[in-house]
Amino acid sequence: MDASSLLQRIRDAGVVGQGGAGFPAHVKFAAAAETVIANGCECEPLLFSDQRLMQQHAPEIVEALEAVMAAVGARRGIIAIKRKYTDIGERFARLIAGRPLELARLENFYPAGDEHVLVNELLGRTIPPLGLPRDVGAVVSNVGTLFSIRRAMEAIPVTRRWVTVTGEVRRPAVLEVPIGTAVEECIAACGGPAVPDPVLVLGGPMMGRFADAPDAPRREVVTKTTGGVLLLPRGHFLHRMATLSVRDMQKQAAAACIQCRYCTDLCPRHNIGHSFETHRVMRAFGGGLGAAPGALQAFLCSECGVCELFACPMRLSPRRINALFKARFREQQIAYEGPREVVPAQSGLNRHRKIPVARLAIKLDIWKYLEIHPVEGEALQPAQVTIPLQQHAGAAAVACVQPGERVTEGALIGEIPEGKLGARVHASIAGEVTRVDGGSVTIQRG
Ligand code: SF4
Ligand code: SF4
Repeated sequence: MDASSLLQRIRDAGVVGQGGAGFPAHVKFAAAAETVIANGCECEPLLFSDQRLMQQHAPEIVEALEAVMAAVGARRGIIAIKRKYTDIGERFARLIAGRPLELARLENFYPAGDEHVLVNELLGRTIPPLGLPRDVGAVVSNVGTLFSIRRAMEAIPVTRRWVTVTGEVRRPAVLEVPIGTAVEECIAACGGPAVPDPVLVLGGPMMGRFADAPDAPRREVVTKTTGGVLLLPRGHFLHRMATLSVRDMQKQAAAACIQCRYCTDLCPRHNIGHSFETHRVMRAFGGGLGAAPGALQAFLCSECGVCELFACPMRLSPRRINALFKARFREQQIAYEGPREVVPAQSGLNRHRKIPVARLAIKLDIWKYLEIHPVEGEALQPAQVTIPLQQHAGAAAVACVQPGERVTEGALIGEIPEGKLGARVHASIAGEVTRVDGGSVTIQRG
């Protein structure tokens, strides 16, 4: 399949980056690159979704990697996994024997799956601040995205994904879930909550989004980028950190930030050579959320959470403060104008300052969940799905079905708006469209 046909298939199937913000894959791969990296590192503690996918679909991932390499003109293809995935490593090693592909086995550290960190680790090069892997001749693709591309090559759209359901559920599992399934169905399929009134996290414990309204499990649905559903006891350390008010963050920063710079010294972005020192943002925050000198570098924060949840001895909130500054600057249409050069003296520091996932789990108070190995769960068959039209970076898809219409699984229900960056959306079950609003399409099975 030539490059333009592959990109068209990827676009038609609605493939987006499944490991991050859901960037439309047909745009991402419309570029030349020397190296393509299949990212199977899944660095968030407690998540097993990519592991399960690699156990079941390694051949498809390899085939898609080769197709993407051909499309972008890459000579080098690397499959990056954790060294601890011994069975998966052996499987890939057998599959790539005789092919021009490499297998990289990384230590179990956080955030190994961050594409800036991964490129630095594998290629010894640093993507510039606010840059992309292609700035250093690379393309990074999550293994889930590659699996979707393999299916797209057969004209099968993205309608399902693997989701780890863990934490305070009775039977943690990795489930195959139709897009648009209510999170409460995933939890019910795992035996329900194991504690009263738990709090929900969508994603992993480091970068996941807390949804703590009582009806959140009913309202929240699985999207193309949902890798995990985590239940924690309400009031857990992570919940307290995520819900601290801005006023309390400011009071604590003013009273307790000792400018020790541990947040900077362990920051993965600082340690690959970005001119970013988050302790200076903390200092600026003492004066409020204005555009104080030093605060603009908050734009360089990936919000990985290392500073806030691991490094800071005073348990302050540098990650959330960076996020607040970024949001405020965007509101005020203030852009980053700081240095974009890589600082050579910093660019290799990550190699010596890796954060072992086991240590991280102790700090996060999630140790007791770390030894859970979710079982392989069922493929869910929900009676109804509510499929968001915005599951990706760019513009929301425009619904192209009406209430009362019957759809088959895989039918197009949301189209990319003319001339905009976006991704198509497809029906994840067969049935009748019962509701269409600006944000979603609801389908009743049958
Ligand atoms: S680690 Fe904490 S106390 Fe130290 S400089 Fe950073 S925010 Fe301040
Ligand atoms: S969240 Fe903290 S550690 Fe992570 S990139 Fe931002 S400042 Fe650095």
